Amino acid sequence: MKLLEERITTEGIVEDGSVLKVGSFLNHQCDVELFDAMGKEWAKRFSGLRVDKILTIESSGIGIACVAARHFKNAPVVFAKKSPSINLTGDQFCTTVHSFTHNTDNTVIVSKRLLTPHTNVLIIDDFLANGCALQGLLTLCKQAQVNVVGIGIAIEKGFQPGGATLRELGYRVESLAIIDKIDPQTKSIHFRSNYEILDRNFSYTRTKI
Ligand code: 5GP
Repeated sequence: MKLLEERITTEGIVEDGSVLKVGSFLNHQCDVELFDAMGKEWAKRFSGLRVDKILTIESSGIGIACVAARHFKNAPVVFAKKSPSINLTGDQFCTTVHSFTHNTDNTVIVSKRLLTPHTNVLIIDDFLANGCALQGLLTLCKQAQVNVVGIGIAIEKGFQPGGATLRELGYRVESLAIIDKIDPQTKSIHFRSNYEILDRNFSYTRTKI
């Protein structure tokens, strides 16, 4: 998505070789007009699919998921909460997620009341890198026996394995910007221009939008 790539190029700050800071429009300050355009684009890419609920993880996923929901018939947005401890009453689905940015392990939970079997769920998140956050959300979805119809990502770091692994598993991953390389010397960001997505269920080539 050209608009998002332009913002990453002009405002993104590269740190430590592979960490991209996009606090001015995505992770700290929220550009809701951009979020709206992102939601519209996901709605186009996932058109024809039934989405009953959107699932994300706190905190950066919440804003983009809520704005995107406006393009999915106001589907309710559920966010997995980072919890300091496991609730033993059994009314929550629970798993552990490793945080790439903070290098910590977090327990994440979702109330069993909010994810019920056979619900059609679209997962949305800000970044996809090694895929730990997404694997955590998918574990919660398996526990809840919901149907994951797709995964919408704002920025995929294509040089890390998360996206490829999820596609190999058969998930439909739609990333609005895919970064294939960050030059450690110049800190320049290289986007994937023509992306070919091949997996078990479908195969197509998309030119950059
Ligand atoms: P993963 O679990 O796929 O390795 O990383 C996904 C999570 O880590 C995202 O939800 C995001 O919060 C964070 N993350 C991963 N890479 C980056 C990055 O380059 N920049 C920022 N700002 N967050 C990242």
